[in-house]
Amino acid sequence: MTQSTIKHEVSFVGAGLHSGKNSRVTILPAPSDFGIQFYRTDCKGENNCIPANFTNVVDTLRCTTLGNSSGLKVKTTEHLLAAFVACGIRNAKVLIAGEEIPALDGSAREFVLKFLESGLQNQGTPQKILKVLKPVHFEDTSTGANASFYPSDTFEMEFTIEYPLPIGKQSKRASLVNGSVVSSLSSSRTFCMNGEIEYLWSNGLGLGGNYDNVTIIDEKSNKYLYPVRHEDEPVRHKMLDAVGDLSLSGYPILGLFVGYKSGHHANIEILHKLFSDKDNYEIIDAPDSVSSRLPGMKVQLSDLPEI
Ligand SMILES: [Zn+2]
Repeated sequence: MTQSTIKHEVSFVGAGLHSGKNSRVTILPAPSDFGIQFYRTDCKGENNCIPANFTNVVDTLRCTTLGNSSGLKVKTTEHLLAAFVACGIRNAKVLIAGEEIPALDGSAREFVLKFLESGLQNQGTPQKILKVLKPVHFEDTSTGANASFYPSDTFEMEFTIEYPLPIGKQSKRASLVNGSVVSSLSSSRTFCMNGEIEYLWSNGLGLGGNYDNVTIIDEKSNKYLYPVRHEDEPVRHKMLDAVGDLSLSGYPILGLFVGYKSGHHANIEILHKLFSDKDNYEIIDAPDSVSSRLPGMKVQLSDLPEI
């Protein structure tokens, strides 16, 4: 199994979901074993590099924020990170002029579309993977959210959320292999309750949200204000978030992730728990036979569903 990057640079411009501020992101091909690294190009002269790793997560309130020792941050990294996983992109240099990744349509769809249009470059160098060896659990006692890893022969996810109607209880289990993150999860948008909007705005959050990039639920009528892309779009979006967050392990993961109301906080805490004991996992060179049991192999533009 070998590493991949993008063939050509791609750019995105838009407002961040929370800050509402515009930023420009340019993504460049990167050499083997580079991983994903963010560069704050509006902060030249400082240490402006922030590697995408769970040890660099500095905030998980409503999004996953990465930071470095100079105090520089990049917010709302999770949908872009999920797009890298979806397309099997292991190495990329992310230049960002601004503090937050553009929300675009609120999902990972536009990132995936541009990556697949740009084309992927197989780098021919071996890819290491993380194999889960033992069950690992994290529970957030304040919210009831929990997250677990179990050994599995593929990258699988089982996720449950519970909200008032129209979301209700949604559960989904998926084997996230080949193009399935692109086909099943990448177009699902973030969501929030109508009654939360003022609270979010007064706390400087959700300022870039609109009716196109957020699925809004009206609690009075218990209805979605606008049509959803899938009946279970909310749980699919939470799975997309988890795919992005878990990529901060630095490796493709061979294992089953089970999340119950899990959000960015629990997704990152379970990684800390996983890495806290070397008996929980092993890092191995992946044989070719493993590639079809992970996301991003044989992925094609036709995997992206119509919306
Ligand atoms: Zn999200």
